[in-house]
Amino acid sequence: MRLALLADVHANRAALDAVLADIARRGADQIVCVGDIVGYGPDPEACVGALRDRDVLSVLGNHDLAVASGRDLDALPRDGQVAALRHREWLSADDLAWLSALPLRAAVATVTLVHASPDAPAAWNRLEGFHEVHAQFAAFDTDVCVVGHSHRPAVVADRLGVTTVRPGHRYLINVGSVGQPRDHDPRAAYGLFDTEAVAYELIRVYYDHTRTAARLRERGLPAGLGTRLARGV
Ligand code: ZN
Repeated sequence: MRLALLADVHANRAALDAVLADIARRGADQIVCVGDIVGYGPDPEACVGALRDRDVLSVLGNHDLAVASGRDLDALPRDGQVAALRHREWLSADDLAWLSALPLRAAVATVTLVHASPDAPAAWNRLEGFHEVHAQFAAFDTDVCVVGHSHRPAVVADRLGVTTVRPGHRYLINVGSVGQPRDHDPRAAYGLFDTEAVAYELIRVYYDHTRTAARLRERGLPAGLGTRLARGV
């Protein structure tokens, strides 16, 4: 099964459209998303709609929870708080209910899906250090765990010396961010994982981030959310 793995769409419709077109071109059996569909960006309605229409299996992200519940907003950066409040106004009651019903954790084939970390999915911990990441392997029982949250792509194997994704090992994979990459590459990121071949590819897709910046201005969201897209930070 070929899985297309999305994370951190963050209401960036131009980026999501480019990624969905790329997936359609390359082919995938199923699209999944590890959270933060909304937050930050100018088009939460279109992004929730695009994933709902395609029956994308999604888990809950911290921004999804903040937007859906209106709670714990102060845990978000200032511009994220502003965007989350606007998203709550713009999204329909039905979309908000759909977001709040997303599970913290899901699995498909040999892959566990969680937004931040499998050991404590509701704590929204950022996995940065090597030991911290390695401790996570005890918290999932599938071959692969896919996460997002840091917006920085990474592949970590269950032991040192394994430099590619291949059969016989387990992996924690951060697929990067569709809508707000932070690895100094402004292109949208997503992953393709083949569960039978145990092969993984990180894909980068060009999209016009100036369109997203223009939409942010149009909808009155902080301009800094657009300028960071140009730099991929
Ligand atoms: Zn995020």
